[in-house]
Amino acid sequence: TVKAQGKNGVRASGEGLVEASARRSRLARDLPGAIERGGLRLVYQPVVGVHERRVLGAEALVRWDHPVLGPVPPEEFVGLAEDDGLIVPLQRWVLETATAEHARLVAGGRDLKLGVNISVRHLQARCLVEDVTRALERSGLPARLLMVEVTESVLMDDDQRLLAELAELSALGCVVSLDDFGKGYSSLAYLARLPVDVLKMDRGFVSGIDTDPRGAALVGSVVDLGRTLGMDVVAEGVETAAQREVLVSLGCGFLQGWLTGRPVPAAELPAVVDGFDPGLLGAREPLPVPW
Ligand code: C2E
Ligand code: MG
Ligand code: MG
Ligand code: MG
Repeated sequence: TVKAQGKNGVRASGEGLVEASARRSRLARDLPGAIERGGLRLVYQPVVGVHERRVLGAEALVRWDHPVLGPVPPEEFVGLAEDDGLIVPLQRWVLETATAEHARLVAGGRDLKLGVNISVRHLQARCLVEDVTRALERSGLPARLLMVEVTESVLMDDDQRLLAELAELSALGCVVSLDDFGKGYSSLAYLARLPVDVLKMDRGFVSGIDTDPRGAALVGSVVDLGRTLGMDVVAEGVETAAQREVLVSLGCGFLQGWLTGRPVPAAELPAVVDGFDPGLLGAREPLPVPW
């Protein structure tokens, strides 16, 4: 797997190392062309409101189908772009394409949010606000419909300038979300000071939730934390009805995962949104929660 070959991964055989480094240089050689000449595409995964019982938005996820090596996982080539100084052009392409495609969807009369993943390196490059502003202007997408997803590694970088950039995005009217929440090291004190509107709870929290009471208790406290800080909480990676049951009973208001929708190309999203089956959220209205 990619993870096993990753930065610190030690492969058993010398041959494996040679293969891994050949793959890396091939990808590094081909990525700039893919960014510039239409080699990338976006898919969109629905985010569903438990109480609204419908699709409220979609997250753009970048895809690269390499002509020889086949599909390359986004974590692999985003990491490569970060190492090779290509993150800004990559993110500009994602922002421009996602806002343009989403603006067409919204023009069709659907009030849906768009989630876009942002690299901390783009924040550090100091041009994120400028790039977001330009993408919004060109596409005509209202800022309030754009949700910028940053990973919690911004928490580890105690850099006031990064926080100031995030606050600027907020001031533009964008929604700011903290992605993969709980995966790394989160300082709770710091979280309270972040200009963040949404917590996206990492898939790792959700996977065992239906069989592990301690895991469920943990998710319950993240939901409570979100409520205390005035943040919405989205559960990522919801695959089964059993997981959904627990999440809903704990008061989690937003779900994203294979259960409620796989990522699809922009052209298929209207049918997915309009044809969403609320039965996927359970047969009845969620129970009232005790607070
Ligand atoms: P993420 O932002 O946390 O995105 C969610 C990931 O979980 C996606 O993987 C999605 O396909 C996957 N997923 C969704 N529902 C389920 C489920 O029910 N079960 C399981 N097992 N997986 C589910 P994907 O598309 O491979 O993306 C992986 C990561 O790559 C993303 O994690 C994000 O951090 C990064 N990424 C993707 N697109 C971009 C981008 O345009 N820019 C940047 N900087 N990073 C991106
Ligand atoms: Mg994300
Ligand atoms: Mg995530
Ligand atoms: Mg991730």
